[in-house]
Amino acid sequence: MAEFQLRIHHLYARFLNIYGDRGNLITLAKRGTWRQIEVVIKQLGLGESIDPDWADLYFIGGGQDKQQQTIAEDLLKQSTSLHQAVKDGAVILSVCGGYQLLGHYYRPHEGPELKGISLIDAYTVAGHRRMIGNVVVKRADGSTLVGFENHSGKTYLGKDLQALGKVIVGNGNNGDDGMEGAQSGGVYGTYLHGSLLPKNPRFADQLIRQALERRYGKVELQPLDDQFESKAHKKAEALPA
Ligand code: GLN
Repeated sequence: MAEFQLRIHHLYARFLNIYGDRGNLITLAKRGTWRQIEVVIKQLGLGESIDPDWADLYFIGGGQDKQQQTIAEDLLKQSTSLHQAVKDGAVILSVCGGYQLLGHYYRPHEGPELKGISLIDAYTVAGHRRMIGNVVVKRADGSTLVGFENHSGKTYLGKDLQALGKVIVGNGNNGDDGMEGAQSGGVYGTYLHGSLLPKNPRFADQLIRQALERRYGKVELQPLDDQFESKAHKKAEALPA
C-alpha cells in the first residue's frame, strides 16, 4: 500500500491536446511512481463535473482557438468547483490555451470573446503575430524554466498577480513586458509547451509536493537521479529563441 496517493484531474484531454502537453502528465506520473507514490489520473470530458474534494492537481493544456471555443462554456460550469478546490489547497497547472481561460477572458482574432473563470487576475487578447520559438524564463529563486511557445494570444497580468518569471529568451506572456506565466497560490499558468515538465524536473517536483501537501501536510520527496533531465534542460537553455 503506497504511503501517498497523487490524484490528478486532466481537463478536456480530448480537446486541449494538440501541442503535446500530455507529456506533463507522463512526467508527473513517472516522478510519482519512481517514489512509490500511487498516481491516479482521471480525465474530464464535456458535460462531466468536477468533485472539488477529489483531485490534488488539475492539468489543462493548450489548444487552437477552435478547441478553446468548444470547451470554454463547459469550463465556466466548473468554475465554482475549481475555485473551491484551489481554496482547499489543490494545484492547477495550465498551459497556453488552458492558461488563457483561467483568466477573465480570451479575445481571439475571430469569433466571440471567450469568458474565462477568473481564477487568476489576467486577460488575453490575440496579437497580430504568432509568438513561436524557444523560451527561457528566470524565476525569482534564480532557477530557470525552459520550453517552447506557440501562441498569438497576449496575456496581461493584474498588478498583484505574480509572473512565473522573467523572460530571458523568447516572448512569454505578451512579448511586451518581459514576463512569462503567472502564479497565485496553487495556480500556475504558462505559455511553455515542450512539454514543460520533462525538462524542468525541479518545477515538476514543486507541483507534486504542493499537491500532496493538500491532503498529507508537509511532504519531503526523495531526490531522483535527474542527470538526463538536467542535461536536456541545459541544452534547451542554450537554444536560440
Ligand atoms: N489559441 C491560443 C493562441 O493562439 C492558444 C494557443 C496554444 O494553446 N498554444 O494564443
